[in-house]
Amino acid sequence: MTIVNNFYYMLTLSFAWVFIIGLIVGSFLNCLIWRLYKNETLGGRSYCPRCRSIIAWYDNIPLLSFFLLKGRCRRCHEKISWQYPLVEFVTGSLFLVIFQMDRLSPDFSFLLMRDWFLVITLVIIFVYDFRWQLVPMMIVWPMSLVILILNLSLGIPWVTLVFFGALGTIFFYIQYFLTKKRGLGEGDIWLGLLLGLAFPDAGSLLLIMVVSYGVGAIASLILLWLRKKNWQSRIALGPFLALGAIITLIWGERIINWYLQLFS
Ligand SMILES: [Zn+2]
Repeated sequence: MTIVNNFYYMLTLSFAWVFIIGLIVGSFLNCLIWRLYKNETLGGRSYCPRCRSIIAWYDNIPLLSFFLLKGRCRRCHEKISWQYPLVEFVTGSLFLVIFQMDRLSPDFSFLLMRDWFLVITLVIIFVYDFRWQLVPMMIVWPMSLVILILNLSLGIPWVTLVFFGALGTIFFYIQYFLTKKRGLGEGDIWLGLLLGLAFPDAGSLLLIMVVSYGVGAIASLILLWLRKKNWQSRIALGPFLALGAIITLIWGERIINWYLQLFS
C-alpha cells in the first residue's frame, strides 16, 4: 500500500514539475516571439515596450504575475496582452499532456524531446503567424532539422523522412503556385516540410489537412458573417496548420482508429 501511495505521490510531483517547466518555457516563448519580430538578441532583461522600464523578476513569474498585476505594467499601467498568460498556460498544459502520453514508451527520452520541440515550434508558429501573418523561418528551418535528427534517433528510416518531407513541401508548393502566390505565403511551403518530417505517415498528414482546412473554412465563414473580413481578405494558414498538427499529435491515433472502425 505504501509503495502504491509513494508511486502516486512521485507521479503527481513529477506532473507538477512538468507543468512548471512548461510554464517557464511558455514564458520564454513569449519573449522569443517578440524579440524575433523586433530583431533583437535574446540577451538582456525584458522590458515594458511602452515605458521601457526593466521588468523585475517578481513581475515576470509565469501566469502568476499577470494576474497579480491585473494585466498592466507596474510602472506605466500599459495593458499587457492576454497572449502572455495564454501562451504560458497552453505550453504548460501541452507539456503535461505529452509527458503523460509518452512516459510509458520505451523510447521515452527521445519521444518526449521530439514532441516537446514540436509543440514549442507549433506554438511559436501559431502566435507569430496569427499576429503578423508571417511564418518565422528563423524558427521553422532549425526546428525542422532538430525534429529530423530526433526522428532518426527514434529509428524512423531516413528514406521515409525524406519522402514525407518532400511530399509536404511539394503539396504546399503546388497550392502556392496554383493560387498565384496570393492564397499561401512562401513560408507555408516550409511548414509543409516541417509537418512532413514531424508526421512521417499519410494518415497523420491527411488528418492535419482535414482539421486545419476544416477549422480554417469555418473561421473564415464566421469572419465573413461578422463582416470582419471580405472575400478579398487573406487569412493566414499557419495558425490553422499549427492547431491541426497539435490535435493530430495528441489525439491523431485515436481519431484515425475511430474513423477506420466505422468501416469494419
Ligand atoms: Zn510600462
